[in-house]
Amino acid sequence: MASKRDYYEVLGLSREASETEIKKAYRRLAREHHPDANPGDQGAEDRFKELTEAYEVLSNTQARQAYDTYGHQVPRDAGQGGAPGGDPFGGFQDIFETFFGDRFGESGFGSFFGGTGARAPSRGGDAEVEIDLTLREAASETERELKVQIVKECSICSGAGGTETRQCGTCGGAGAVRTVRQSLLGQMVSTQACSTCSGRGSIIIVECDNCRGSGRVAEVVTRRIQIPAGIEDGMSIRVTGGGHAGERGAPAGDLYVRVRVKEDTELMRDGDDLIHRMQVSFVEAALGTEAEVPALDGSRAVRIEPGTQPGATLTLRGEGMPRLRRRGRGDLKVVVDVMVPTRLSGEQRELLRRFEEISGEETYNNGGGESFFDRLRSVFR
Ligand SMILES: [Zn+2]
Ligand SMILES: [Zn+2]
Repeated sequence: MASKRDYYEVLGLSREASETEIKKAYRRLAREHHPDANPGDQGAEDRFKELTEAYEVLSNTQARQAYDTYGHQVPRDAGQGGAPGGDPFGGFQDIFETFFGDRFGESGFGSFFGGTGARAPSRGGDAEVEIDLTLREAASETERELKVQIVKECSICSGAGGTETRQCGTCGGAGAVRTVRQSLLGQMVSTQACSTCSGRGSIIIVECDNCRGSGRVAEVVTRRIQIPAGIEDGMSIRVTGGGHAGERGAPAGDLYVRVRVKEDTELMRDGDDLIHRMQVSFVEAALGTEAEVPALDGSRAVRIEPGTQPGATLTLRGEGMPRLRRRGRGDLKVVVDVMVPTRLSGEQRELLRRFEEISGEETYNNGGGESFFDRLRSVFR
């Protein structure tokens, strides 16, 4: 696939362009490059398509955000064109968030066999698989081998559907027929799949046993998927050309690997940050202590200062999740839960009573000026 131009560049805008500027730039350029204004100029048509695509993405807030984050890899419409053919195993991968909704539906691959009406060969369907990762696995780049069931071109008949075929006389083997008619705009040429051979270009004499004439077979293939560090639950990795084979040489669909990141019992994800709730006893909170907290790799020592209050947060910079496709990592935030004893022995109860007797307002003044009792008073005032 030829490398795609940056959408902002296409519209001649900066990345900070406002909605109005985007609209204006598109209107101006679309008028200039509209195919009607440039009859017979294939270049103009391509430029017009490029413009329209850029505009559709940048004029949609959600799509623009995704584009700003992930670049070109956000598919606007995976159902139509755009995918290169070639070796599906050489297909490149990219990531996008699946906020485009459930475009995939339940596309069982059975449906990719049938339906050869009088239409142009269509691109193969998209395949989807799901993959489960632990949070720790999602924190570093990993490679996985996946088994994917896809429809491939039949290797016995090379997709012809027959082991013995002859060229179709109607279309001369082209598989398509062109009709030319005159209209106000000039010559209109339309191409349709040949109805005699259903667009194959050949007539089957001896049907292929392997694919029963469909030219395609379902196969389980092994795919190696590179999963970038920092991937989030619900995101998908797209492998261009890794989906089902297209009809009669049309490009294959894409493979979408939907990633599920399992929740961790110790570390909760909050974007690029991780949150760990640490429990300390009220005595530890009062006297201070050293503690170990779990990290993505091993553990880290933290110091609980004397007089630490419930809900206090310690931040370990750069100990969070790697930022997806960006440098750096988020933080690990340790939230302190102070545990109050619920079952006390007689002796413990006695000690606490004694403690209370010798405690005054000063005991709870945490140095912030306002004491515990001051705050309590302000609540009831
Ligand atoms: Zn034909
Ligand atoms: Zn076959």
